[in-house]
Amino acid sequence: MAHAGSRGTARRTAGAPSARSPKYVYAFANGKADGSSALRPLLGGKGCELAEMTKLGVPVPPGFTITTEAWAAYNAAGKKHPVGLWKQVTAHLARLEAAAGSRLGDPQRPLLVSVRSGARASMPGMMDTVLNLGLNDRSVEGLAQRTKNDRFAWDCYRRFITLFGDVVLSIDRRTLDALLDAAKARAKARTDADLPADALRALVSELKAVVQEKTGRPFPQDPLEQLRLAINAVFDSWWAKKAVDYRRINQLSDDWGTAVTVMAMVFGNLGPTSGTGVCFSRDPSSGERRFFGEFLVNAQGEDVVAGIRTPEPIDALKQKMPAVYAKLVAIKDRLEAHYRDMQDIEFTVQEGRLFILQTRSGKRTGAAAVRIAVEMSTKEKRIDRDTALLRVEPASLHQLLVKTVDPQAKYTSIAKGLPATPAAAVGKVVFDPEKAVEMALREEKVILVRAETSPEDVAGMHAAQGVLTSRGGLTSHAAVVARGWGKCCVVGAGDVVVDEENHLFRAGRAVVREGQVITLNGATGEVIVGALPLVDPTFSGEFKTLLGWARDRATTRVRANADTPADATKAREFWAEGIGLVRTEHMFFGDERIPIVRDMIMAQDVQDRKKAVDRLLPFQREDFIGIFRAMAPHPVTIRLLDPPLHEFLPKYKEVLEEYTRLDARGFNPERHAELGALKARLEALQEANPMLGHRGCRLGITFPEIYDMQVRAIMEAACQVGGEGLAVEPEIMIPLTGTVAEMKLTREMTDRVARQVVAETGRAVRYSVGTMIEVPRAALVADRIAEHAEFFSFGTNDLTQMTFGYSRDDIGKFLPFYLEKKLLPHDPFAVLDQRGVGELVRIGIERGRQTVPTLKVGICGEHGGEPSSVEFCHRVGMTYVSCSPYMVPVAWLAAAQAEIKEPRQKGKARKAVTVATPQRGKKR
Ligand code: ADP
Ligand code: MG
Ligand code: MG
Repeated sequence: MAHAGSRGTARRTAGAPSARSPKYVYAFANGKADGSSALRPLLGGKGCELAEMTKLGVPVPPGFTITTEAWAAYNAAGKKHPVGLWKQVTAHLARLEAAAGSRLGDPQRPLLVSVRSGARASMPGMMDTVLNLGLNDRSVEGLAQRTKNDRFAWDCYRRFITLFGDVVLSIDRRTLDALLDAAKARAKARTDADLPADALRALVSELKAVVQEKTGRPFPQDPLEQLRLAINAVFDSWWAKKAVDYRRINQLSDDWGTAVTVMAMVFGNLGPTSGTGVCFSRDPSSGERRFFGEFLVNAQGEDVVAGIRTPEPIDALKQKMPAVYAKLVAIKDRLEAHYRDMQDIEFTVQEGRLFILQTRSGKRTGAAAVRIAVEMSTKEKRIDRDTALLRVEPASLHQLLVKTVDPQAKYTSIAKGLPATPAAAVGKVVFDPEKAVEMALREEKVILVRAETSPEDVAGMHAAQGVLTSRGGLTSHAAVVARGWGKCCVVGAGDVVVDEENHLFRAGRAVVREGQVITLNGATGEVIVGALPLVDPTFSGEFKTLLGWARDRATTRVRANADTPADATKAREFWAEGIGLVRTEHMFFGDERIPIVRDMIMAQDVQDRKKAVDRLLPFQREDFIGIFRAMAPHPVTIRLLDPPLHEFLPKYKEVLEEYTRLDARGFNPERHAELGALKARLEALQEANPMLGHRGCRLGITFPEIYDMQVRAIMEAACQVGGEGLAVEPEIMIPLTGTVAEMKLTREMTDRVARQVVAETGRAVRYSVGTMIEVPRAALVADRIAEHAEFFSFGTNDLTQMTFGYSRDDIGKFLPFYLEKKLLPHDPFAVLDQRGVGELVRIGIERGRQTVPTLKVGICGEHGGEPSSVEFCHRVGMTYVSCSPYMVPVAWLAAAQAEIKEPRQKGKARKAVTVATPQRGKKR
């Protein structure tokens, strides 16, 4: 321990660590402190900043902090104090008593302390704190005499017993609060502050009686025993369910543990010149540079949090206690300047004297984070650009890009699913996608509710404000599609039982009928009956500034996944630098196209199939023309058809039902024959494992007409747009390659058609051919595949599916359990599994570049917009990441942060094989 024994005699008398026990306790008092901000892991955020503030000369009541190492030792020993801990605590207590001029439990001059939790990362309200410790039947009288305030002393005592009973003795808080309510009713008191002294004295007796009854022992009168029990309880509150849950959700380590701070109480409940409050050095919701906070006269800290009384805005303090207000303003400015970040500060005023009890970097909305970072860097010149870029959590940018539920709104939800996108939506419930389209045409806002969605529902999903499904995970069809649009989507809400027949869904006891209005809170996954107020996204100047910086700083570039010209335009608005994935099958859906696609699939022979395929050509070409125009001069990667063919046909079950129905009745022979053929074809196409079946390049190789047509459409479109003077350079991507032979063959097919088109049109177009790497084998033979491919794009959805052997449509059955039991750290379809799947990515890149050192490499799975995955992609040397348009700003920021943390070596920078954009080309 670096700080051990650095200050001679004072330390020795204050329980110096011996050879057998490390330094477990760090003091802060009267301008001096053992700790500092640098010791955050050891002292927790609260403890280390109390020490830091003490050294800065900020008025902080004296105290000491027990380290997280003590917590670890206590835990390791099966909840027993490690040797030396108690000795150090009592020695520091003696020092604290000397500093405060009073003693714990003293009948004349009692010292009261708070015992506070504090981990290295802020976990607001998740762990426990005990206030007013040191009171007993005798010292309460001493406190009353010394302050000449009976009411105050008994108020402190009843608060102490309540908190101690709840936190330390595990007595149900409601039982204790019920006594307070009864006392208030008896005394006809409106608020706690109206209770007179004798009512409080009587309340204390009742509380003590409850303690005796519930624990079989009297309320502990020995202050040292109180202290010891409270310290242990705060240690243990690390494992409270809410704390454990909070850490899981926020991905904080269970191993950190909590420090415990014991400090002298100051009293905001001493009358009208006292009070307590919380303030922020800037507005945490907008980021505006204005002092913001709340204050309660004659109250203790917990009253503000518990909402017992409604606090007043900080301006009230300015009017009531101008001198205190001025001091507070000076301190918050000082703290903000010192920490160079927005601060969240707890303070208490005791009879006109100001004390600071806590400071930390304030939690803020995405909008506020951006504004504060940019203003601190530009206007105020307090931080440099890199610091500003690092200050904003990439994921928090989502909030800036979508409508969200008004944070002021109060509500209760009827069900909860997985939040697929952060957007919120309000609309009427509808179950049928076609009806959703109809209603949307009549300008009605609808929410599409389905057990699960399929590609056929796309139109309905698009028409709806939001989508709710009861099955499926975060990469289910509904989630992926909705995310691409930035549309509100809640998936896998297991409590929702859809009863389409009766036009209703149930969620627990609630029954929601078609046409009823619900709200989906995309940020939390909650489903709420009725319409909640929504707030608009803000696209501020600061946001654009920050994004500009990110783009300048990032060496890993960002593209978008987009399937239509409209998507491509949106992608550009969101600053995408090209398209990393156009899924051509999305172009096969659509009212005019589906019948042709079905003809293609139903074709009896090659010739018939070719006829149908040729009818699709103009549609595809038009789409590509639109996309090229929207994206020029940036590159566009187009993936040839991937999904199994049966996805384009009606569901087998439905066909069979209708067929059998007609069979029984025996009329309409024409339809019957049609259905018979459809049924037979569906049976022929049926696969046990479609995801591992006849799809991707396997389809293109066995039905070459399809890929030929697609390549032709791409090349004709490129010739045309190139002829308009725009820079185009299609990157044609073969899906699901697993062997070198597949790559070689599809490459030859592609080149043949491409050359034909160029010969026909007489216009030269640069294009490149590459492949998705999504079959694990492809990563392993990447050196050979690279002989025939000009680029790789890691399709990490399929790669994850095949590496884990988890079907992404079925993962919902066990994933929640796995996450709960910590068998998986995250949903691997949302956060790239760097150790396993990432290893294949690394191998694929390394081997590919053994053959072609300048190989262009990207990622186009859902992970392309997830910050930790983007950082990984940067580290392994990808040229770009590609994600849904709405994630592009998030990815830029994550890529910039990755570059700041781990700059890419100049020599290792890769020039893309095909550079379509001269002004970007020099960056790589
Ligand atoms: P949390 O981490 O949940 O905010 P805290 O340890 O900060 O818990 O304490 C809860 C409340 O008690 C806060 O409002 C705090 O300001 C107040 N408080 C804590 N210690 C003292 C003290 N020594 N004197 C006065 N108020 C205190
Ligand atoms: Mg606090
Ligand atoms: Mg795939």
